[in-house]
Amino acid sequence: MVSRVIPVDDFDLVIFGSTGDLARRKILPGLFRRFLSGQMPEGSRIIGAARSDIDADGYREMIRDAIAEFGGAEKRNKKALDAFLGQIEYVSIDALGDGGWQALAKLVRKDVIGAFYFSVAPSLFGALAERLQSHKIADANSRIVVEKPFGRDLGSAKELNATLAMHFDECQIYRIDHYLGKETVQNLMAVRFGNMLFEPLWNNHYVDHIQITVAETVGVGGRGGYYDKSGAMRDMVQNHLMQLLCLIAMEAPHQFDADAVRDEKLKVIRALQPLDPHHLVRGQYDAGPKTASYREDAENPRSHTESFIAMKAHIANWRWAGVPFYLRTGKRLKAQTSEIVVVFKDLGHSIFEGDEKRHRNILTIQLQPNEGMTLQVTIKEPGPGGMRLIDVPLDMTFADALGPDAEDVPDAYERLIMDVIRGNQTLFMRGDEVEAAWAWTDPIIEGWQARNDVPKHYDTGSAGPEDAMMLMHRDGRKWRELKG
Ligand code: NAP
Repeated sequence: MVSRVIPVDDFDLVIFGSTGDLARRKILPGLFRRFLSGQMPEGSRIIGAARSDIDADGYREMIRDAIAEFGGAEKRNKKALDAFLGQIEYVSIDALGDGGWQALAKLVRKDVIGAFYFSVAPSLFGALAERLQSHKIADANSRIVVEKPFGRDLGSAKELNATLAMHFDECQIYRIDHYLGKETVQNLMAVRFGNMLFEPLWNNHYVDHIQITVAETVGVGGRGGYYDKSGAMRDMVQNHLMQLLCLIAMEAPHQFDADAVRDEKLKVIRALQPLDPHHLVRGQYDAGPKTASYREDAENPRSHTESFIAMKAHIANWRWAGVPFYLRTGKRLKAQTSEIVVVFKDLGHSIFEGDEKRHRNILTIQLQPNEGMTLQVTIKEPGPGGMRLIDVPLDMTFADALGPDAEDVPDAYERLIMDVIRGNQTLFMRGDEVEAAWAWTDPIIEGWQARNDVPKHYDTGSAGPEDAMMLMHRDGRKWRELKG
């Protein structure tokens, strides 16, 4: 199969926060892989920017170490790594001061695409945006990439949007949610809107319910202090889970372009019904045999912050009226997995005598650890003995059919950075979407604060608090087992 890597024009990509965890773990190893795929033309450069007082050679060594630590098999390609490092520059800069800005202005060219990745704390976004303009480093063609968290409530998100809007147009702002860069998430849209088969069934006539799970085995570890002010709702639900919900539930956009897709996602968020507090379960993990409890990790013995949340949400529109969307996410759970499960309704009547088992078509979209899609279908068990029915998963990933290209799938960050360079905002959140998501989550948070809700305890390595199981059991349903 012919490689489908799309060439990009020359660019200067400035990474603010280039010495930080995200840059070292994800952004730089990802860019090296894109370099290897031929998507970093010789005339392009990556310019690291942080306060650390190092020179370009020192920074290149830092990248070499980061790729050795976090890169995949490609890190063994020493010659290519040297060539990649030859396209790296570094400027020591303070987002809040004047040092370094003139040096950056000299480095960034105006005749190539200019992209500025804000991989720093959100409190620095405004200062960076303002200085990029006042030092005339950015222009109307530049793009800025901002990381999550985008605010901690509607008020702060609006403020952040307004600050960025003072310096950049909405079409220049790329709010990243790396879940949207996953191959399977895009495949979900291809499956939904590129086939006749699913769309007619994608509604309350045929779908019983939908589950969205993002489960982690890790605890809050080193980021306990930050996490304790945030919790699972702000850290995961308001962004990742709601974005996945939108893609599952949205109407077909009239075309696959940024605003058409984001308009449809926004309609879903606006159609979410206020959450019934009885449909919400919050939890906190207890200590495991060798691991600390949430409160110990957060160094807050009285913390009421949730490390787990499960909820039943409803979308009030014609397509989804009456169909529950069960969302759950948590830390220190049994398995590390992210998946969306679409459970179709039971057959109204079985013609097969003696077959009393409930057969259901279940579409499972796995985002991690392995990206893929399976559709559970009912078939006849092979062999003699009459019409015995069994349920088998039909693999819709089709890695075999796609050949080696299927293996060379860029990771989410790589894909999204290349989308920034190409100027494609489809997989990025628009300002109004982020605000609408906060407008839905804020009253839920305010509600539990007003009730003094205390999170339920759950065992490390479990599937979360018992109440989360009950949330489903009460409806005669059950969560899909957490499997890594
Ligand atoms: P981090 O490890 O603390 O790195 C912060 C970076 O910002 C460092 O390079 C630091 O370098 C630089 N910096 C701090 N103050 C600065 C200033 N005044 N001027 C210029 N540079 C400054 O943080 P991170 O984990 O990489 O996270 C970066 C952003 O990504 C945050 O918004 C975070 O919420 C978001 N994020 C991170 C992850 C992740 O996996 N790490 C995942 C999702 C989102 P110097 O000290 O040298 O200046």
